[in-house]
Amino acid sequence: MGQGMGRAGPPHSAGTDMDETHTIGATSIDRDEELQRVEAALKRLDRGQFGHCLYCGDRIDLERLQHDPTVESCDTCRED
Ligand SMILES: [Zn+2]
Repeated sequence: MGQGMGRAGPPHSAGTDMDETHTIGATSIDRDEELQRVEAALKRLDRGQFGHCLYCGDRIDLERLQHDPTVESCDTCRED
């Protein structure tokens, strides 16, 4: 119980030529975020909150929802 496995591991072995091929990253993070947004949208759908702004509770433009069903904020609260 409670042995700190995982995080405390040694850093990736440094200084090998193999590292050059290791340049994924940005894309996988993007996809992860996208997945979380979709899951969050599904949860809101479940609770009947889908289509409402997370911040002020206003309804979100239907057009915007159709364009991107995972939007979380109305036009007013959205950051550019
Ligand atoms: Zn709002």
